[in-house]
Amino acid sequence: MKLYIVANRLPVKAVPRQDSYTFVRSEGGLATGLDSLQISMEKHWIGWPGVCVDNARQQIEIRQHLETMDFHPIFLSEEQYHDYYEGYSNSTIWPLCHYFFSHTTVRKEYWESYQKVNALFCDEICKQVGSGDWVWIQDYQLMLLPGMLRKRMPNLHIGYFHHIPFPSYELFRILPERAELLNGLMGADFIGFHTHDYMRYFINAVERVLHIKFDLDEAQTDSRIVRVNALPMGINYELYNHSSATPKVWSEIEKKRILFRNHKLLLSVDRLDYSKGILHRLQGFETFLERHPEYQGKVTLAMVIVPSRDHVESYAGLKTKIDETIGRINGRYSDINWTPVCYFYHGFSFEELTAMYFVADVALVTPLRDGMNLVAKEYVATKVNNPGVLVLSEMAGAAVELADAIQINPNDTDQIADAIFTALQMPYEEQAKRISKMQAILSVQTVNKWAADFMEEWKNVVDKNQYLS
Ligand code: UDP
Repeated sequence: MKLYIVANRLPVKAVPRQDSYTFVRSEGGLATGLDSLQISMEKHWIGWPGVCVDNARQQIEIRQHLETMDFHPIFLSEEQYHDYYEGYSNSTIWPLCHYFFSHTTVRKEYWESYQKVNALFCDEICKQVGSGDWVWIQDYQLMLLPGMLRKRMPNLHIGYFHHIPFPSYELFRILPERAELLNGLMGADFIGFHTHDYMRYFINAVERVLHIKFDLDEAQTDSRIVRVNALPMGINYELYNHSSATPKVWSEIEKKRILFRNHKLLLSVDRLDYSKGILHRLQGFETFLERHPEYQGKVTLAMVIVPSRDHVESYAGLKTKIDETIGRINGRYSDINWTPVCYFYHGFSFEELTAMYFVADVALVTPLRDGMNLVAKEYVATKVNNPGVLVLSEMAGAAVELADAIQINPNDTDQIADAIFTALQMPYEEQAKRISKMQAILSVQTVNKWAADFMEEWKNVVDKNQYLS
C-alpha cells in the first residue's frame, strides 16, 4: 500500500545550470510542511519540477534524478504554465478565494488549460498507482482531479486538502465554472480545510450549486459518502523549537544581535502577494512612527519578501508600490545611523530565517486573507528563553489557534500602529506567558499530527463506504 501526495509542485525543484540541472528545496508553506511528514506508508510525490522543459533528453535526466527520491515529475509547457498556473490557478481561483474579486480574471483559455493540466496529472497517476493505493491531492490548482480520477478508477482512495480559504457562497458563485470545480472536489472520499468557516462555506456552496445535501459533515452521492472536516495544518514544531540550539543558527543569532543591538526589531516574512497586506502593514508602521516620535531611531522593521508569481500582472504592480512606499518611509525618517525599514527582496536560508525569528522582538503577520499562515506558527515555536510578541491578523487561519497573539483587523492601519506600540511595551513576563500558551498548542498540533488526523478520518470514510457497498 502506497501513499501518493499529489501537488502542483514537488518538494524540490530542478534549476538549470550550464547544460545540466541542480536540485534545490522548493519555497512555500505546503512544500516545507509536507516534506517533513513522517508516515508509515511508502510515500511518493507527483508534481511539477519547477521548470518548463520540452527537450526529451532533459526530461529524462530530470525524471531519473527525481525518481531516485520517489518524486514523479509532470512536465508542463511554457504555455500550460502560463494559462493553467499563472492564469486559472493564480489569476482566477486564488484572488477569488482570497476575496480579491477585483483581481479575478475570467478567460476561456485559462479554463481550458486548467482542465488539460488536471487531466495530465490524472493520466500520470493512473499510470503509477494500484487500486488499493491512497492518493492525497493538495490544493486549488488541482480541484478537478479528484472527480477525474474517480471516473477512471472508481475504487481508488482519494483525499483532498484545500490549503487556501474557501470563500463564502456569494463570492464562489461568481465563477462560471463553479459547478465543475465542486463536482471535481466531490470525487474525493474526504476533503479537509484549515478552519470550520472554510468548511461551512464549502458545504453551503455544494448544497446551493450542486443541490447535494450534507448531514452535518457527510453527503451521500450516487455511489459513496463524502466527508469534510476542519484540520488546521501545523508545523514541524521540534525543528523550529530546537533551531537556536544548533551551532549554525546560534552563530547567525549572535551576528544579528550585534547588528540590531541598539534597536527593537520588528519582523515580517511573506511571499510577494497582495493577500499578505504588505502595504497596509507599512502604512501601520509609518503611522506608529508618526504617533510615537520617541521610538524614531530605536525601532527597525525588517521586511523579508520572497519573490513570487512576478509574471502575473497584479503582482508586478504590487512590487513597485512596495518599493515606493518603503522608499518614502525611509526617505522621510532615516538618519545617518538608522534606516526604519530594512528590506530584503529574496528568500532566506532556514538558518538565517530562524535566527531572525529568534532575535525579533515582534513579528508582524498581518495578511488581509490567509488560508493558515505558517510564519506565525514558526515564529512562536522558535522562541526559547527569549520571548517576543506576535501581532496577528484575525483574517489568517492561524488566528483560530493563536488566541494569545495580539489580534488585529489588517485593514485598520491605526490598529496596526497601536498593536506595534502595545507589543513594544509588553512586559517580559506577559510575553513569556503568551508565547508559552501558544507553544503548548503548536507542540501538539504539529504537521505530523495534522497528516495523521487526515489519514485516520480518510480511512474511516473509506471503511464506511466499503461496509455500505
Ligand atoms: N520561507 C522560506 N524562506 C524564506 C521565507 C519563508 O522557506 O525566505 C517559508 C516559511 O518558513 C514558511 C513558508 O515559506 O514555511 C511560508 O508559508 P506561509 O503559510 O506563511 O505562506 P504561503 O507562502 O504558503 O502563502
